[in-house]
Amino acid sequence: PETVLIIGAGQGGLQAAISLRQSGFAGTITLIGGEPGLPYQRPPLSKAYLRDGKAEALYLRPESFFDAKQIDYRPDTWVEAIDRTAQRVTVTGQSGAHALPYDHLVLATGTRNLRPPIEGIGLACDLRTLRDAQTLRDRLSQPTRIAVIGGGFIGLEFAAVARALGHEVAIIEAAPRLMARAVSAKMSAHFAELHRDWGNRLHLGQAAIAVEPSGVTLADGTKIASDFVLLAAGVRPNTELAEAAGLACDNGVRTDARLLTSDPAISALGDCASFPDPRSGAQIRLESVQAATDHARLIAKRIAKGDAAPYSAQPWFWSDQGPCKLQIAGFATPDAAEEEIAAGIIGRFDASGLSAIETLDNARAHMRARKLIASPVPITRAELEEIAA
Ligand code: FAD
Repeated sequence: PETVLIIGAGQGGLQAAISLRQSGFAGTITLIGGEPGLPYQRPPLSKAYLRDGKAEALYLRPESFFDAKQIDYRPDTWVEAIDRTAQRVTVTGQSGAHALPYDHLVLATGTRNLRPPIEGIGLACDLRTLRDAQTLRDRLSQPTRIAVIGGGFIGLEFAAVARALGHEVAIIEAAPRLMARAVSAKMSAHFAELHRDWGNRLHLGQAAIAVEPSGVTLADGTKIASDFVLLAAGVRPNTELAEAAGLACDNGVRTDARLLTSDPAISALGDCASFPDPRSGAQIRLESVQAATDHARLIAKRIAKGDAAPYSAQPWFWSDQGPCKLQIAGFATPDAAEEEIAAGIIGRFDASGLSAIETLDNARAHMRARKLIASPVPITRAELEEIAA
C-alpha cells in the first residue's frame, strides 16, 4: 500500500504511525484524531494528572515530530463514514467535509464510557479524555463529596487520588467485589481493605438507580449525599463506523490473528478490536496500553514489510491506587481459578493452565511473571514459586 489512513489518534493510532515509519514505510500516512491538540496518553488522567495538572507530561510526541516524520496529523477531525468499495473515508473538521483515500485503513477508534440506563445519569462526569480530566481537576480544587459509580480500575484510581487530596469519597459497585472482571477475589478483597483504610466508603453489590444533584440512590433505597458523581462503570468499543461499513463486529471490530478485519484492506487495533487471544484462541478485547501499542507494531510491520506473522504478544497491565501498584501479567477470564503463590502474588488458572499472575508492589516479580507467561511450554510448580524468590 502507498497510502495508510489511521482513524483515531490515541495510544494505538499514534503508535501505528510511528511504527510504520520505524519499519521503513515511505508512503503517505494520515492520522485522524477526533480530539483537539497533540496525541496523549490516558493512564495518568486518573493518576498523576489529577494531582499535578501537567498536560505537557501527557503528550506522546512533540508537534515537531509530525513534520519530521511526514505524518499528516489532523486533530479535531471526525471520520463520518468508510466507503470500502472506493477505498476512501469521509471526514468533517474545521475545513468542512471532504473525502480522503486509502490503500490500507487502520481502525484505532478506542472506546467510550458506557452510560447505564440510570435516572439522571446525564449529571455524572466521565473520565476518558483530557478534557474530562480537566473538568474533574476543577471539581477537586475545593472540598467536595464525591460518589464514584463503578469499582473498576479507573473509578478506584480516581477515588484513591481524590481521597488523598482530602475529599469524601463513596464507591458504588453493583458486583459483590471490586475489579471483579479483571482480578482474583483475593486481590479484590485486599484493595477493598486498602480503600476502607484510606477512608473511602464502599457500597458493594448495590447498583445505583438514580443520580440527582444532591446525590445517588442505590437499589436498596440508600441515599448517598454527594456534590458530584463520577461515572466509571465500564466502556463500549467504538464500532459504529465499522458496523456501518459492513465489517464483522462482536464486542469490538472482529479481527483474525494478523489483526485484519473481515476486509483485508482494513486492520483494527487496541480498545476497539476483538482479536484471537494467542494463548487460548478465544476472541478477546483488551483495554490496555500494552495491547494498543503491540497491536500497532504488528500491523505496521505487516504493512511496511509484508510480515504476516500472527499476533503473539502476551498481555500485561498495571493500576496505581494511592501508593499501591497492582500489576498483571497475562489475561484471566473472571471465572479463572486463583491460588496465592506467595504473599502478594496470585496465580490465575483455567482449563489450559496458568493464565495470569497478579503481583502487588513487586516490579521484579511482575517482570518474572511476564517471562513465565510467555513461555511456550507448560510451567512447573517450582518455576511458579521462583517468581517470589
Ligand atoms: P484511545 O487511546 O482511546 O484512542 C481512540 C481515539 O480515537 C480517541 O481519541 C477518539 O476520539 C478517536 N476516535 C474515535 N472515533 C473516531 C472517529 N470516527 N474519527 C476520529 N477519531 C475518532 N491502560 C493501561 O494499560 N494501564 C493503565 O493504568 C490505564 N489507565 C487508564 C486510565 C484512564 C483514565 C483511561 C481512560 C484509560 C486507561 N488505560 C490504561 C487504558 C488505555 O488508555 C487504553 O487502553 C488505550 O488508550 C487504548 O488505545 P486506543 O488507541 O485503542 O484508543
